[in-house]
Amino acid sequence: MSGNTKTKQPVTREFQAEVKQLLDIVINSLYTDREIFLRELISNAADALEKLRYESLTNEDVYEKDLPLEISIELDDKEHTLTITDTGIGMTEDELVENLGTIAHSGSKDFLRNMAETVKKDVNLIGQFGVGFYSAFMVAKKVRVLTHSYRPDAEGYEWSSEGVGSYTIRPVENLLRGTKIILELKEDAYEFARKETIKRIINQYSSFVSFPILVEGEKVNTVQALWTKNKNEIKDEEYTEFYKFIANAFDEPYYRLHFSADAPISINAILFVPKDNFERAGFGRMETGVNLYCRKVLIQQHAESILPDWLRFIKGVVDSEEIPLNISRETMQDSALISKLRRVITGRVLKFLNEQAKNDPDKYAEFYRKFDKFLKEGATSDFGHRKDIVKLLRFESSKSEDGKFISLEEYTNRMKDDQKYIYYMNGPSREIIEAGPYLEMFRARDIEVIYTHEPIDDFLMTHLGEYEGKKLVSADQAELELPETEVKEVQQNANALDSDTTKSLADWLKQTLGDKVSEVKESKRLVESPAILLNSDELMTSSMQRVMQVVNKDYNTIGKKVLEINPNHELIKQLALLREKDEEFAKIAAEQIYDHTLISAGFIIDPRTMVERMYQILGRALKK
Ligand code: ADP
Ligand code: MG
Repeated sequence: MSGNTKTKQPVTREFQAEVKQLLDIVINSLYTDREIFLRELISNAADALEKLRYESLTNEDVYEKDLPLEISIELDDKEHTLTITDTGIGMTEDELVENLGTIAHSGSKDFLRNMAETVKKDVNLIGQFGVGFYSAFMVAKKVRVLTHSYRPDAEGYEWSSEGVGSYTIRPVENLLRGTKIILELKEDAYEFARKETIKRIINQYSSFVSFPILVEGEKVNTVQALWTKNKNEIKDEEYTEFYKFIANAFDEPYYRLHFSADAPISINAILFVPKDNFERAGFGRMETGVNLYCRKVLIQQHAESILPDWLRFIKGVVDSEEIPLNISRETMQDSALISKLRRVITGRVLKFLNEQAKNDPDKYAEFYRKFDKFLKEGATSDFGHRKDIVKLLRFESSKSEDGKFISLEEYTNRMKDDQKYIYYMNGPSREIIEAGPYLEMFRARDIEVIYTHEPIDDFLMTHLGEYEGKKLVSADQAELELPETEVKEVQQNANALDSDTTKSLADWLKQTLGDKVSEVKESKRLVESPAILLNSDELMTSSMQRVMQVVNKDYNTIGKKVLEINPNHELIKQLALLREKDEEFAKIAAEQIYDHTLISAGFIIDPRTMVERMYQILGRALKK
């Protein structure tokens, strides 16, 4: 537009071709998420107010300089109109023509093409697009814009249109500075003249707009956009209030992280870790709890794409002025901007948790106890961040105090010089693990063993495979290479079975037990127990097999296990003698020993045969 047009008479102008096209889609294809029109109009009003505020800083010559900066909405449920008024910069006639008759922005044509294509694919999806001012035509059959620019020499105008083909501009006297937009609602959009509806929409999309929004005189946006304030100026209670508002929560946040970044993308964010993990409490899968804003206006609630799935327990807001308001959910999935955002936020969260773990280990332990599943999920599913997530994992161990945790870093720092691997053992509790035969050899060599208690832990360990180049090995593996450090308690008993007798007993046991075990051999690891059952398959730890057994009653562990016997143990020595004297009875004893090793490994066995056998053995013992 050139020059200063100052029409005295109404003029009707054709919309630019692209605008016609856009309006055609808006009017004829947009039926879902229509309520976003209000977000668009409020964000335009807030922009106009922001510009005026900026202008007033340097410019004395602003029309009606003392008008309060605010947005007000009036509703008429009888006439079915919605009026939204701001005291912002307003528009001159030229600006009206330029802004509301053409699509000026560079990206708009692409956007339009994109939109037209989406409509072809799925009309419902189109509602995801923000379409700026023109979205008013989703709900209005006629739109009137009354506006007066802040420029002292400006005059007032009315722009009006029914959205088809053309619009009309005429001069209007006695307008206040700013813009008043009157929507004459379509019949199927009368709900937008109701106060509750409007308040609800504002609450959802526009609660953080920096200027007061008055609906019929009542201020409805009472929550501040805390993330734009200086950290030092925010009180704890304000954070808590804010958390409750955005997370719809009743508890207090356990951790909070307030940060901003400029590169590689500008971000303001406040993130919270809730006190409780409701997923653990059986409330079902959590929804992503972070909302994405662009300059305080909501782009997407529960924005799934800006954090990896395993961080779904995080609540909060992320504001980036670089993300366009009208980004669609589809484009969010694969936008380079969004993946940048995601990388930055995830990195910050990981760094933050790591700092918390270092600075206050007890507080972190309490968090870990509730939220460990998420971190384990991350460690197994998020390859890109795995290294950092693994640093956050915590475990009990044979050397940790009861109820305290260690990290893999602590473990490796105090590993013995000649120890090659990191050992772990799964069992329902510390007591049960320590009572079983599996730790004997480690205890004798003073080697630390990590205790894991959940079946998912073994999955995690096998999945990780190693930490800092050190292999993670389950303590129930058959082929363990332990360092040849001095063994404290294991003393070769002078009257232990000699190796030939042991070998022959082992062969006999294999024959007796048949397919139940893959091999029977002399144990180098046992100290106090007569026998132990070990895994020959590295990837199938006993705890995983136990899970299989629970899931599938017929799951069979037979044939996958190595039975080791302790030639120092009195019971084994007696078994070797009994086998010569009374082989039938020795077989019963062998079966019984085997069942005991199964129990020690945590498997469920059929109690009936075992009890029966036990009575037979007791009968013999009592006869003597
Ligand atoms: P965008 O906000 O992305 O620029 P819109 O379609 O929402 O696109 O608005 C187009 C233009 O119209 C805005 O850039 C602004 O210049 C002008 N405009 C819209 N609403 C107002 C308003 N309430 N006050 C002043 N200018 C406005
Ligand atoms: Mg806009």
